Amino acid sequence: MSSEIPTRADLAALPSYVPGASVPGAIKLASNEVPGGPLPSVAEAIARATAEANRYPDMAATALVERLSAELDVATNRIAVGCGSVSLCQQFVQATCHPGEEVVFAWRSFEAYPIVTQVGNATPVRVPLTHSHTHDLDAMLAAITPKTRLVFVCNPNNPTGTTVDRQELTRFLDRVPPHVVVVLDEAYREFVTDADVPDGLEFARARRNVAVLRTFSKAYGLAGLRVGYAIAAPELVDAVRKVYVAFSVNAVAQAAAIASLDAKEELLARCADMALERERVRDTLLELGYEVPPTQANFVWLPLGERTMAFAEHALEHKVVVRPFAGEGARVTIGTPSENDVFLEAARSF
Ligand code: PMP
Repeated sequence: MSSEIPTRADLAALPSYVPGASVPGAIKLASNEVPGGPLPSVAEAIARATAEANRYPDMAATALVERLSAELDVATNRIAVGCGSVSLCQQFVQATCHPGEEVVFAWRSFEAYPIVTQVGNATPVRVPLTHSHTHDLDAMLAAITPKTRLVFVCNPNNPTGTTVDRQELTRFLDRVPPHVVVVLDEAYREFVTDADVPDGLEFARARRNVAVLRTFSKAYGLAGLRVGYAIAAPELVDAVRKVYVAFSVNAVAQAAAIASLDAKEELLARCADMALERERVRDTLLELGYEVPPTQANFVWLPLGERTMAFAEHALEHKVVVRPFAGEGARVTIGTPSENDVFLEAARSF
């Protein structure tokens, strides 16, 4: 008798999520995290919630949902929270796709999209970015078939930092069939300074098939606690909540997210400083002769092609960890000014 355990055969072919590496003693600019730890007020909320860790969290994250509802002026039945926005990406696939149905997204984009699609038994359809590293929305429209259920538009795009503007997005959404759900993944929204890049909420309020994803991991500095949220039409939110893993947004994360919203002004001011640093880093890289697409996120993209891995190794020799995508490019998170200086010195000597 065979002792093999019958797991899903297709999982062997599933790409693995490769997180940014941490190297002791090196500056980590590999995961689009913000550099500082939690503010004292947030740390206090974390400590208070930890003291009640024997209790299950509020499954519905009622206080956080109500708080987001007030902040965003969106009804509570239009908000779903998730264990990071990556969990919500997976929930959207599970909530919309039957086996074999298709999910369209740009490539390269957030590396979880193909993974959550395949985990959900759906089929990923990757649409190459344009030569300027932006979404090719016309090609994405052309990729929609009767089997398409979901489209991810990552704005700004991870890992390129590039954006789609209001006019392009409006034109695109006007042409997407109304039964296809479009998820506008705005994980980096708070770093956007270009007024032509629309707030996805404008669209999610007005269109039943458009959802917006946001996270507390980036601007709010809570990557380690795992909490994100989606805004969409109530029937879509209902379906997304149905496939939520019970209790997956823990009580500490809920309390920290609320305390972060209390400190929103301070945290958003920090994002504004990071946007300035981003422009300084990009300008310096351009002066050094690198190609760097315009970016609205807290990272820059260096499309180095075959030199990517050598660049990442060189940066590591200078004690900086970047995020390489072999054969394509390196993504480098904006850190503190002094961390960025160390990185720029590495880039200068490459
Ligand atoms: N969307 C995008 C575009 C991202 O880059 C990330 C994180 N790298 C996420 C979603 C997921 O973030 P989290 O699960 O931490 O909210």
